[in-house]
Amino acid sequence: MTDEQGTTGAVLVVGGGIGGLTAALETAEVGKDVFLVEREASLGGRVAQLNEYFPKMCPPSCGLEINFKRIQNNRKIRVYTMTTVKAVAGEPGNYQVTLETSPRYVNSNCAGCGECAEACPDEIDNEFNFGMNKSKAVYLPHEMAFPRRYVIKKEALSPEGIKAVKAACKYNAVDLDMQVETRTINVASIVWATGWSPYDATRMENLKYGQSPSIVTNMMFERLAAPGGPTAGKIVRPGDNKEIDSIAFVQCAGSRDENHLEYCSHICCMATFKQMTYVREQYPDARIYVFYIDLRTPGKYEKFRESRMADEKAVFIKGKVADVNLEVDGSVTVVAENALTAEKISQNVDMVVLATGMQPNFAINDVPAALQMDANGFIISEPEKGMISAGCAKKAADVVTCTQSSTAAALKAIQASRR
Ligand SMILES: Cc1cc2nc3c(=O)[nH]c(=O)nc-3n(C[C@H](O)[C@H](O)[C@H](O)COP(=O)(O)OP(=O)(O)OC[C@H]3O[C@@H](n4cnc5c(N)ncnc54)[C@H](O)[C@@H]3O)c2cc1C
Repeated sequence: MTDEQGTTGAVLVVGGGIGGLTAALETAEVGKDVFLVEREASLGGRVAQLNEYFPKMCPPSCGLEINFKRIQNNRKIRVYTMTTVKAVAGEPGNYQVTLETSPRYVNSNCAGCGECAEACPDEIDNEFNFGMNKSKAVYLPHEMAFPRRYVIKKEALSPEGIKAVKAACKYNAVDLDMQVETRTINVASIVWATGWSPYDATRMENLKYGQSPSIVTNMMFERLAAPGGPTAGKIVRPGDNKEIDSIAFVQCAGSRDENHLEYCSHICCMATFKQMTYVREQYPDARIYVFYIDLRTPGKYEKFRESRMADEKAVFIKGKVADVNLEVDGSVTVVAENALTAEKISQNVDMVVLATGMQPNFAINDVPAALQMDANGFIISEPEKGMISAGCAKKAADVVTCTQSSTAAALKAIQASRR
């Protein structure tokens, strides 16, 4: 175990998504020492998985890369990837936090050249692409990865793979003897920016997710449209690569439902309007069906909604989807009742996108500290204790709202660390 004392008043930020990056930078740029801890092998969180993001419809690199550069240039921030918080002891202003870092099996000599991956014969499911394709067992988490360092999934390496990967590395960066590391840090306050995961779509049995490759979630659809995705950005039906003549979006898949997520995830309607744009860019004649309970696009997003709803080949059906039926030709039939006309609809389409909501990670993962949380697992800030939540760990929100709450969290963390 190593003991890395923070200077007096240091701040720990847990989670390296857009929320945590913002909180860490805002805190460090006023001169505070910051520890930024991320459980994955790279920073960026869910935003890195998006193809484009609204409102500007730019690739995630336009928001993330500038933050990565600011972090690289700021000596006040110490970044630990593949690291989680194991325990928090002490009191406000003086917390001792135990961190645990999993082995990457690639040391800091790595130059990111990729020759190890080229030589590696072993493959694993590509988690970043939700298992829709394979990656090598030695991989860069994604094209924008920061730090730009490869990771090895040791248990997936065959004896030949071990030999090939070691032989391919010119920098002596492969270290398969790396062990789990534990360290303790001292901090005055903690920003929890642990974000969200897609709600588990298999829990809505009527929507048949997992029973046909023609049914995907909205986050999978982001990867299908992304240049670094499983089809290099060409939207085709997973399973048989059929081009799309028709597609249905099922809104509130699990959201606003007391049996699942009782709240509105805030961004799913906007995400669907955005994804309609992806479809339209590649398929000018495709028929698009959107099944919804209500369409919620507050504030300036109204204009975006209006422009998408003007699409003449798009049909909007107000009605909760009762069933999704699988057909033998790989297509799917969406069954719903139109709440405005009481008409029963059975719409056959090539593929279905489930607009699954955002569930806070601490609703589904272990919580390593005594945090105040609401019934859905969102963290309630307690600034007097120096425990502050930010981004989607606080509430389901878009990126702009997350960066605002993270800036506010940084201010509260700084105030708490001055007491
Ligand atoms: C389909 C879809 C499309 C979207 N499109 C847009 C869009 O176009 N525009 C827009 O503004 N918003 C969009 N969003 C919302 C956007 O993704 C969120 O606003 C954003 O991801 C929130 O960032 P965050 O940092 O709070 O959380 P996250 O992005 O989830 O980042 C949290 C980070 O914390 C890490 N973490 C979690 N637990 C721990 C732990 N215990 N220890 C250490 N690290 C941990 C995670 O690995 C992750 O890196 C979309 C959402 C969906 C579902």
